[in-house]
Amino acid sequence: MTLAGATTRLERYLARTPGSRALWERATRSLPGGSTRTTVYSPPYPPYAARGEGARIVDVDGNAYLDLLNNYTSLILGHAHPVVVEAVREQAAQGSAFAAPTELEVELAEELRRRLPSMELLRFTNSGTEATMMALRAARAFTGRELVARFEGSYHGTHDQVYAGSPGVPRALSQLVVELPWDDPVAVTRALAGREPELAAIIVEPVRGSGGLRPAQPEFLRFLRDYARAHGALLVFDEIISFRLGPGGVQGQLGIGPDLTTLGKIIGGGYPLAAFGGRADVMERFDARRHERIDHGGTFNGNPVAAAAGLATLRQLTADAYSRLDALGARVEEGLRAALAAAPGSDMVRVGSLFQVGLRGLRPADLWLALACDGYLLAPRGMGAISLPTTEADLDGFCLTLERIAAGEDA
Ligand code: PLP
Repeated sequence: MTLAGATTRLERYLARTPGSRALWERATRSLPGGSTRTTVYSPPYPPYAARGEGARIVDVDGNAYLDLLNNYTSLILGHAHPVVVEAVREQAAQGSAFAAPTELEVELAEELRRRLPSMELLRFTNSGTEATMMALRAARAFTGRELVARFEGSYHGTHDQVYAGSPGVPRALSQLVVELPWDDPVAVTRALAGREPELAAIIVEPVRGSGGLRPAQPEFLRFLRDYARAHGALLVFDEIISFRLGPGGVQGQLGIGPDLTTLGKIIGGGYPLAAFGGRADVMERFDARRHERIDHGGTFNGNPVAAAAGLATLRQLTADAYSRLDALGARVEEGLRAALAAAPGSDMVRVGSLFQVGLRGLRPADLWLALACDGYLLAPRGMGAISLPTTEADLDGFCLTLERIAAGEDA
């Protein structure tokens, strides 16, 4: 890619998005770097969303984008699905939050238990970060041990236990968290040798997502299942992204039962809601009737508006819906393969409706910019998650655009 090409792209983006630029400049006076979410910043500034409908977002300048990110995999039905909007409208009119439980949280919990037999009991949270934080706390409380193992390149949110090395996270915590090599049983055994009696939990994304899309081999997940059991540690599947891959997530596809699972993204139907749960003997520690319990408050836990949206969403996810998502995934894989054939060294990974693409010689930020100029939104690092209203023609258009970008013909 030529420098001139990059400059032209930037100029095109600036010319298309004056309204977003003005908002971003205004935002920098109130929000650090103009942003409240590291993951939605891409230089020079992101387009500001005005509205979304189905597979598309329209920005404040009136540009339409095919949304291939869907709020980082969470909008499996796309934007403003009428059934979800209706469920939310109905609940919002009845009250948006109570210091009292609602039937909706019971229904959503039942729906999740139906889909995930390993989830005997569960608790709701507002974010995936809280869900993994509480799952690890539950594992430590249950085992009476403090060491947690996680994998290189994995992402479990932003709380201290899973963010070692970040400014502000106490260095002492690093002694309680081991980072394991991915997909390598021998290296895992070696990394934990001698520390097995301290191990409370192994937390793993069955399909690594935000840190670079990569599925774990089923045998590797089975190895982790056996390893954790053999050493008295709990196995936690973080299915916050991978739950979109099938009615029972990856654990359902492979028939592996973790001790605990974390969920988020799609289960809130586009609203902030997540969950953690699993074995009853572990989760019973949260029982408020117990004298010695793990306290778990949360002003908006199980929020009825989010629960209504989540339930409405999950009810749309029939067997046909999952087949359709897989077919769309296969379509994008085929198109991307053809598009990248003339760009050796580029890479593409696809798992169900999730994919990731990178072009050799083009920085991810430049690919993001090139795609944004042509009306496509992907994660700044090239990850995408297809929603149900996306069409084959949408994906074909995306692949052709990528082919032009790979050939340097877009600028
Ligand atoms: N775990 C995984 C696998 C995730 O992908 C994410 C978010 O992307 C999280 C946890 C954190 O979820 P949240 O952003 O809702 O805090």
